[in-house]
Amino acid sequence: MNEQWAITDSLRAIDQRIAREQKGVFSEALILFDHVLVHRTQPYSGYDGYEVAGKNLHYALTDSKPGVRHPRRPYYVSDKEANVSLADSEVVSLEQAWRWLNGWKRDRALMREQIVQQHQAWRNSRESGASDLRAREYERLRSGLDPLPPQIWSPAHERAWQADTDRWEVAAYQALQAWDSHPYSVTVILVGNIGPCDGCKARLKVFLYELSGELFPKAFVMTKAVYTGDRCKRGARGTTDRLDTEYGYPDHAEQQEFRLDGQTFWHPWVRVVTPWPVQQ
Ligand SMILES: [Zn+2]
Repeated sequence: MNEQWAITDSLRAIDQRIAREQKGVFSEALILFDHVLVHRTQPYSGYDGYEVAGKNLHYALTDSKPGVRHPRRPYYVSDKEANVSLADSEVVSLEQAWRWLNGWKRDRALMREQIVQQHQAWRNSRESGASDLRAREYERLRSGLDPLPPQIWSPAHERAWQADTDRWEVAAYQALQAWDSHPYSVTVILVGNIGPCDGCKARLKVFLYELSGELFPKAFVMTKAVYTGDRCKRGARGTTDRLDTEYGYPDHAEQQEFRLDGQTFWHPWVRVVTPWPVQQ
């Protein structure tokens, strides 16, 4: 499933969840490798977050103790901002995407290890087979048997063996290189029915850093926010002490059309997540 289709289906799934629950704020993360959808979470509400991981969410970005700053929280986001947005749907969607990507990496590293071991086993058996023939040839010549025998292991055998081994070594090396360069590109799209708040915009950036810097340092990495509703809207959060925030992106968000059939279409905002802070 390509990107356009994946986003359309996600918008539809979110609409269905809203229709079922009458209201709510939902988001879903789509993961694409080389422009093909490989995993999607599901439309989550913020409340689902506690079912997934309790308070132990990777993208909470809140301080664990008073005075101990969360190491991944950007300087322009306060602990309060992170706290009031802790139960947002984006937090659990990013959590699930992050977990899946880590699991994929782990499985792939294990498979790579197996491939390398299998190749090593093949190399060893090939080597020992040839050594055995070489030894038998040496033994035969040493004991002076048969003045004109057919050779067990001649220089021609040796050359053919070497050429064959080299060919397979190159093939194995190329296969491993192809393995290591997959995926060439990683795209994660966060789809929702409201623009991310300031806290979640920061989380998306942290996610982007981890994706490109730690998880897939060799790949072309892109993260996008796709959301329906207003392009950006100011709001206040918190019950006792109010905190101003802004939902959505005031800059570089473009409206695009996603069409399911003749009748059903959406016009969400699409914003590529950039590593620098949002310009006001
Ligand atoms: Zn948020």
